[in-house]
Amino acid sequence: MSSEPSSQRGPESVHERLNPTIPALVHSGWLGHFPWLVQGTTTRGSGSPEFDLGLFSGASPGHRVHEHWDRLLARTEMACSVHARQLHEADVRLHRAVKKGLTIADPCDGHVTDTPGVLLAVATADCVPIFVVSPEPRAVAVLHAGWRGTVAGVLERGLDVLGDELGRSRSDLHLHLGPAICGHCYEVGSEVFEALGLPSPGAPTPIDLRQILVQRAVTVGVSLEHITVSTHCTRCTDSGLFSHRGGDGARQLGYMGIRA
Ligand SMILES: [Zn+2]
Repeated sequence: MSSEPSSQRGPESVHERLNPTIPALVHSGWLGHFPWLVQGTTTRGSGSPEFDLGLFSGASPGHRVHEHWDRLLARTEMACSVHARQLHEADVRLHRAVKKGLTIADPCDGHVTDTPGVLLAVATADCVPIFVVSPEPRAVAVLHAGWRGTVAGVLERGLDVLGDELGRSRSDLHLHLGPAICGHCYEVGSEVFEALGLPSPGAPTPIDLRQILVQRAVTVGVSLEHITVSTHCTRCTDSGLFSHRGGDGARQLGYMGIRA
């Protein structure tokens, strides 16, 4: 979708804009290109209490978190939403017939749908929300990837569900790696490098998980020109995001769906 020359060496960087009606950072390039798409990553918001959407993290009273979910669904004008407890593994579920309101699916780390009006959501606070769009025929996937999920293959599994169950070709897919902890802030031990199949640095060293996910996506057939990476970091950019490493118990949501 990018107008950048295809000879560029890396994926396009995207600085998501704050949505005027929902406290969320949205990929305005995508929303311009795919006007049928609903997409974003929520933020703390400017009010009090903060816009915590973590149903399983226990940082805010449950009734308040549910109020925030209701607000998100109303503002996005979507009838249904799907979420699940996340396991840092690689299960990804396809959702087609979804009841109105919020559905909690069996635990998993990714969701796929081709049904309009269904808002898919993963919770993050440093991990990477991965957004995948199939333009025509329309389908979307939202995946949750920390280093464990990346090692387990949640990205590849999400692309498999789009391919095997919905017949979407990887070369047609568009992929965005949303707001997450950046390659300067995410210091990890040797065991993480080793688990990812990278040379062990021998001491805690920062790693750029989004860059690793870009490489994995290209390896399995996603076009580099179709991949974008957020400039927002949950730690070092002033983006209003929750950060687990920064001491937050609350969670933002990476959400996406096909407008009804
Ligand atoms: Zn950072």
